[in-house]
Amino acid sequence: MAHFTVIGLGRFGITASLELIHLGHTVTGIDSSEKLAEHYADELTHTVICDATDERALKELNLTQSDGVLVAIGEDMQASLLTTLHLKNIGVKQLWVKANNKAHHSILAKLGVSRIVHPEEEMGVRVAQALNYPMVNDYISIGHGYYVVEIKLIDDLDNITLRKLLGDKIHAVETLLVKRAHELYSKPHEAFKVRAGDSLLLCGTRAVLKSLAPRLV
Ligand code: ADP
Repeated sequence: MAHFTVIGLGRFGITASLELIHLGHTVTGIDSSEKLAEHYADELTHTVICDATDERALKELNLTQSDGVLVAIGEDMQASLLTTLHLKNIGVKQLWVKANNKAHHSILAKLGVSRIVHPEEEMGVRVAQALNYPMVNDYISIGHGYYVVEIKLIDDLDNITLRKLLGDKIHAVETLLVKRAHELYSKPHEAFKVRAGDSLLLCGTRAVLKSLAPRLV
């Protein structure tokens, strides 16, 4: 169990906070709005009413004890930057900051923030990918052009071998896992027969995964 601090309890901040609580961690939520801090007092471990741009007030909160601090201040870029600067001075362990636009991102990068998040854009890309490839349940980018995608097999793809399913791409794509109800089959052999409804975790380049798409729908 870890302890996190989330500054700014707008929609993004509160969603992240409640998920951390759900994962078994403790969360201090900070907001300058008394109404919001009071509203979430029962759901979060602690809530504090505080203007995070006030360095003295921030220093009193023992933020170095937190395993991670997330700055989720929405529109007010100046408040977000000033808060970030103070947190850098205080020296918190892991600092994550939500950026609202390119200028905001560049300044955060200059301040040395390594975890800058763009929730709207990231979610926009995810939704577009899901609309484009409906069989892809979820995906993660693992860098250097490689992706891990989760694909759910449609009814037509019942009882065929991985070799047949993946065809000439069998060596270009790695089948990491097949999930069938509660069973997991890791690194299945190419003679493994998949069934309709199986979820496959495939790893490969975007181009190779994309070329498989017509076979999977
Ligand atoms: P979202 O896009 O996540 O919904 P909002 O702009 O609605 O973003 O929420 C940001 C939250 O950050 C608001 O609840 C606001 O009260 C809070 N906030 C803004 N400035 C400060 C500040 N200086 N100190 C603490 N909290 C702040």
